[in-house]
Amino acid sequence: MPRVMQETSKRYLHTGKTIGFVPTMGALHEGHLSLIRRAKSENDIVVASIFVNPLQFGAGEDLDIYPRDLEKDLDKLRELDTNILFVPGDKIIYPEGFATRIAVERLSDRLCGRFRPDHFSGVATVVCKLFNIVKPARAYFGQKDFQQTVVISRMVEDLNMDVEVVICPTVRESDGLAMSSRNVYLGAKERLAATVLYKALSSCSQMMAGPSTPNEVKKKLLEMLSAEPLVSEIQYAGIYDPATLLEIDEFKQRNLIAAAIKVGGVRLIDNVMAEYHK
Ligand code: AMP
Repeated sequence: MPRVMQETSKRYLHTGKTIGFVPTMGALHEGHLSLIRRAKSENDIVVASIFVNPLQFGAGEDLDIYPRDLEKDLDKLRELDTNILFVPGDKIIYPEGFATRIAVERLSDRLCGRFRPDHFSGVATVVCKLFNIVKPARAYFGQKDFQQTVVISRMVEDLNMDVEVVICPTVRESDGLAMSSRNVYLGAKERLAATVLYKALSSCSQMMAGPSTPNEVKKKLLEMLSAEPLVSEIQYAGIYDPATLLEIDEFKQRNLIAAAIKVGGVRLIDNVMAEYHK
């Protein structure tokens, strides 16, 4: 049992302190650190966790090779004055006999869920456990994983969890590529080609300033992504309702432009939120 973390959180709560929580899988970059900074600015105590959650990886995915560098992560967290780092082992989170899963229906099956069938159930299950252990007032997630924020917000609401879900902007490299621990998988040529994703998403969001339809914007998105020779697969690309994650044929006030592609063998996701004014 992760008693020490749980008891520590209880002690803080008893003294009236608020806990801000940033769950991660480690190999920390500026994206993660932006969440920590935000959490620090809004809470008395900041807890970060590093746990590469086996439940959210499918067969044939990168669980065994996922980048891990605890020493470097510790340095970065120390620099930000993070109060507590929680790094549970697999057996602490999933002891012998563990038998419970959280399923956030429908939302988990859309977008990335079509290609990663058990992924969001794995995410929801571990986040629920981490919330129960860490007992945060607020938990911080990146917009980069937009569907994850929707699934977690739904779970929090449906299960009456007393946690505020705070969604923070995507942090990007100077050429626009969304930071991700998995970007280290990209070779030099693929790294260059990967910039097509944000370029395509941002030109499509600019298209919405003029007269256009979701269909036209989607066509442009697919054209731009397909024009990059190193894009080996487009898993999905389109304009979605940010609340339901369903594709739309008429613009709403807020529109999610999102895509998942493979560059070489590396899967990349990204999204932008675009406002539409008639
Ligand atoms: P991960 O370690 O990939 O599970 O990510 C942990 C948290 O950091 C999640 O809430 C992610 O959405 C968030 N995150 C990852 N990359 C970025 C980024 N480039 N900008 C902002 N947040 C991010």
